[in-house]
Amino acid sequence: MTSSEIRQAFLNFFKSKGHTIVPSAPIVVKNDPTLLFTNAGMNQFKDYFLGNKTPEHKCIADTQKCLRVSGKHNDLEEVGVDTYHHTMFEMLGNWSFGDYFKKEAIAWSWELLTEVYQLDKDRLYVTIFEGDAKEGLKKDEEAFNEWKKYVPEERILLGNKKDNFWEMGDTGPCGPSSEIHFDSRSDEERKRVNGATLVNADNPQVIEIWNNVFIQFNRMKDGSLELLPSKNVDTGMGFERLVRVIQGKQSNYDTDVFSGTIKEIEKITGKQYDGSDSKQAIAFRVLADHIRAIAFTIADGQLPSNTGAGYVIRRILRRAVRYYYSYLDYKQPLLFQLVPVIAKQFEQVFPELQQQADFVSKVVKEEEDAFLRTLEKGIAKFNDIVDPKHFMVEPTKRIGGISAFILNDTYGFPIDLTQLMAKEIGWEVDMQGYEEALQQQKNRSRAATAIDTEDWVLLHDNSLNEFVGYDSLEVNTRVNQYRKV
Ligand code: ATP
Ligand code: MG
Ligand code: MG
Ligand code: MG
Repeated sequence: MTSSEIRQAFLNFFKSKGHTIVPSAPIVVKNDPTLLFTNAGMNQFKDYFLGNKTPEHKCIADTQKCLRVSGKHNDLEEVGVDTYHHTMFEMLGNWSFGDYFKKEAIAWSWELLTEVYQLDKDRLYVTIFEGDAKEGLKKDEEAFNEWKKYVPEERILLGNKKDNFWEMGDTGPCGPSSEIHFDSRSDEERKRVNGATLVNADNPQVIEIWNNVFIQFNRMKDGSLELLPSKNVDTGMGFERLVRVIQGKQSNYDTDVFSGTIKEIEKITGKQYDGSDSKQAIAFRVLADHIRAIAFTIADGQLPSNTGAGYVIRRILRRAVRYYYSYLDYKQPLLFQLVPVIAKQFEQVFPELQQQADFVSKVVKEEEDAFLRTLEKGIAKFNDIVDPKHFMVEPTKRIGGISAFILNDTYGFPIDLTQLMAKEIGWEVDMQGYEEALQQQKNRSRAATAIDTEDWVLLHDNSLNEFVGYDSLEVNTRVNQYRKV
């Protein structure tokens, strides 16, 4: 099956089970002060779960463009290094708002995966919530009993609250979840470990593909849980991962979701993608991934900028530029050349990109041009910082915090680029000093910033002191990006 057929089969399947198919919400969330980007299929249905709105249809399915680059869901550092976390990905989902519950959701998951997609039953296993005595929550026997109809007991694993209990926030709808994992290890490897069941934390070839959440409680302000009058189902399946297991590949990037983009990068750079863990191969994966996030976000109306969602896009874009500049030895704008390939590929499912492909390419190219200018100057600055002539004796092999801050603030170098370049010559960066320099700047500048809580990204104007963490520090420096260049 091609990826398009796989997506369509999902939608057709749930349509045949009485679901209304709805379009993806934009990846960029407008008019919601609590949310910057869509990070799960359920985001657009939040008000139904909160009881603020009554759904027109009780059963819905779709494919949702998601972006996970901040907060609880920040997968950025994994992207390209592993082969199954993306910045932007499609989440296939089906929902019941007070209609069907565990029995049907589980039966349909199984039917779709094993009959429509014909996945090997022996390689599928599931997790259920084990309960939590402190919370007075019992093991999800109901889900356990449903799964037992299809899956041998030894492949039904118990999961704790962290992995198998979903909550929207401190209060509100929540409930136990049940994940489906696929084991794509080779037969030999499986035999070697005697068929032992693993989770993906143990082996990158064993990956989570689908999460079924059973929203049956409401978390009250005092922390107690009340049973909801109606039971809801909220599921999310990673499309790119699903395609990978159906197409029998070892990496999402070996599927037809990404192969067109990778071929185009090969053509442009004259380099070959070998699927390895080399820096060059990581660069290929990073580019193939990041251009999707960049292009779809711009197509949904968010231009790169120095604030908020726009800065997130600018940062992803610079990260991509760093990768081709350093590891594919390509010194001119590259990303914009990939836009037509992606626009064409997604023409049927997300036509908004094709409709604006020229505009998106133009914006991306301008961004690349601008950063390539500062990148070159920044590299000159970097070389000067580490030049032995500045040292009376042996160099310290440590880039000072203020120097790292200047590279960031004046030349737009994300700190990870500075760290990477330092490492290449056997140096390191004084991170504490860097963070102190940032802190001083934070105290100086009043900037809109983002604080992430649970699944929701809260926008604060004045929360600089509350906002901790490496990612956030970069966000806070955006105010002066480019200005002094
Ligand atoms: P993981 O444990 O692999 O990070 P998750 O538990 O964070 O996944 P969920 O929040 O349960 O993911 O999202 C539902 C599904 O979306 C997952 O089962 C997975 O298939 C897919 N998914 C989640 N994060 C990503 C990502 N960064 N890139 C691609 N697919 C993803
Ligand atoms: Mg995750
Ligand atoms: Mg998980
Ligand atoms: Mg999950």
